[in-house]
Amino acid sequence: MNGDSSIRELRGIGDKTAGLFHRLGIFTLRDLLFYYPRTYETMEAPVPVRKALFRDRAAVRGILTGSPTVRYVKKLNIVNAVLRDEEGTSLSVSWFNMPYLSKSLHAGAQYVFYGNMKGNGPYRRMEQPKLYKPDDYTALSRTLQPVYSLVKGLSRKTLQDAIKRALESGWMPEETLEDKLRQDYGLIPLQDALREIHFPEGEAALIPARRRLVFEEFYRFIINVRRLKERVEQEPNTFKIRKDPEVDRLIGLLPYELTGAQQRTLKEVTDDLLGDRVMNRLIQGDVGSGKTIVAFLAMYMTALSGYQSVLMAPTEVLAKQHYENFCRMTEEYGLSLSTVLLTGSMGAAEKKKVYETIASHRADIIVGTHALIQDAVHYDAPALVITDEQHRFGVSQRKTLGEKGGSPHVLVMSATPIPRTLAMILYGDMDISVMDELPKNRLPIKNAVVDVEYRPKAYRFIEKQVREGHQAYVICPLVEESELSSGENVQDYVRILRAALAKDIRVEALTGPMKNDEKEAVMAAFSRNEIQVLVSTTVIEVGIDVRNATVMMIENAERFGLAQLHQLRGRVGRGDAQSYCIFVDSTMSEESQKRLAVLKESNDGFHIASEDLKLRGPGDLFGIRQSGEVSFRLADIYNDAAILKEAEEAASKTLNDIVLPAEAAVL
Ligand code: ADP
Ligand code: MG
Repeated sequence: MNGDSSIRELRGIGDKTAGLFHRLGIFTLRDLLFYYPRTYETMEAPVPVRKALFRDRAAVRGILTGSPTVRYVKKLNIVNAVLRDEEGTSLSVSWFNMPYLSKSLHAGAQYVFYGNMKGNGPYRRMEQPKLYKPDDYTALSRTLQPVYSLVKGLSRKTLQDAIKRALESGWMPEETLEDKLRQDYGLIPLQDALREIHFPEGEAALIPARRRLVFEEFYRFIINVRRLKERVEQEPNTFKIRKDPEVDRLIGLLPYELTGAQQRTLKEVTDDLLGDRVMNRLIQGDVGSGKTIVAFLAMYMTALSGYQSVLMAPTEVLAKQHYENFCRMTEEYGLSLSTVLLTGSMGAAEKKKVYETIASHRADIIVGTHALIQDAVHYDAPALVITDEQHRFGVSQRKTLGEKGGSPHVLVMSATPIPRTLAMILYGDMDISVMDELPKNRLPIKNAVVDVEYRPKAYRFIEKQVREGHQAYVICPLVEESELSSGENVQDYVRILRAALAKDIRVEALTGPMKNDEKEAVMAAFSRNEIQVLVSTTVIEVGIDVRNATVMMIENAERFGLAQLHQLRGRVGRGDAQSYCIFVDSTMSEESQKRLAVLKESNDGFHIASEDLKLRGPGDLFGIRQSGEVSFRLADIYNDAAILKEAEEAASKTLNDIVLPAEAAVL
């Protein structure tokens, strides 16, 4: 067997199981070994019931006060028991469809119960806990259990068995980093790192393994970015875009004055468009700093010179919002400009019509979702490509769009403020404009961090805001009830809110799995204030602009990264009314309180990002692998910032070395 051998060759993997692996992108032994755990679980120390009541998942040690009872509700078998902890506090526990438990659980025996906490007030209880003998639990609590992203039907055990067999197959990937580099930076061999990442002996051994793999990810990424930079810098500007007084006329017609940061950024973009080289620019703007109008002005300028522009958004909802916004401005300010929308949910005939409009250059601005725009569309002369809240853009993608030879100007708009030092490394191929100033009319958002007991008050507050004509968002981490993960879910929450709020207040859900036209209908109704309260997952995170919304309530706020929470909060405070953000912390742990305090005290995305960086130690294994635009398999730009800097140094050295022709053969 070798790295390219199919996983089918491993014992225990048949067609059906292989199919499940394929859905995870695992086809070969190599894929399997490089399929890293998402995180690691450690068994946490048991807490008293008193504390467990405020968590959504907890371990509690206690004795069973009596024999379990069994009952049936419809076809569901429910086993109930009561445990009492060392402080004498009781907690009710239930299991579903596990009737055999009633025989194996003994009154008076001591167990550790580990499970999700459900229900409110006196009905707070633990559901479906796993049971351990206290000694077993203590033993387990010293080990790290890898957690993988899985698909339905594929268990962690099956995946781990397969990885184990692959590690024993006799084949292992060859070392990918030179000895010298590994010595200089104290990196362990690849093979050891792979074994350790899947089967960690303990935290002490896992850290160097992770460090090694993260280092390599960053190192390769930086080398690619630098090469990209070299290539892009050589591309001439083949689109002669002119300055046009019409752009200034439009700026004068806007109902507001551009902020200093907007004016500066617009000037930088304009200089690029008129310059000798093709533009490759990143706008790093805090949420609500007004990036859209800058993009629109750049596209208008491009249109006035006779060229097309493309704007890509990450979701249909966002694409539609931009489209409508542009059409509204075109009409209101009497611009001679034609904008079209291109999205996946459009019918084939409709799409065909849009394609024709684009190809015949009857459209100046094309707005759509990322995937679609890269497809088979033929552009007449796309001179400017803008991505909003989206991924970076490679040379090959530029080429695809610039079919007629010339490379289009590229503008990337990111709302993930990251510290400048990190931005320079991750976006080393781009020029960066920073928009760190909010429009003047904004009142700072008022923030509160609360525990779950505060909910009834929060609902009254939302009601009051609605009565004043405003609207609210509520964010839950989950779409629906899940066995794998605890936490609030949108479906149940909609029901809870409908019951808690006055009847005339319309509460609706918006989630990722909904059909596109459903999503759009809900979004449209919300922006017309026909829906007052929108319960959603983080799909709402990017870019949605409803100025009338003044309350953002985030459930399980402890689950989200600070940057993400800041993004969510940015959905309110976009108009001139006072806005509020309520972070519900269901753990109230010291750590989450410390993190959330950063958000409470600041509304400045750049400040939050750098605090986030400080709060996370290098030993922090649970991170977020994505900053929104740049994603890695294992690395986390925040947690692993120190490794990132080392990798950058190493990459710089390597690239300097290759300039010498004699050593060029090394790579
Ligand atoms: P983001 O940078 O988060 O994408 P948007 O471009 O959506 O922000 O702008 C947020 C809101 O602020 C929009 O409703 C927009 O019309 C408004 N806006 C933009 N620039 C200004 C300004 N200079 N003064 C006042 N409001 C502005
Ligand atoms: Mg935006």
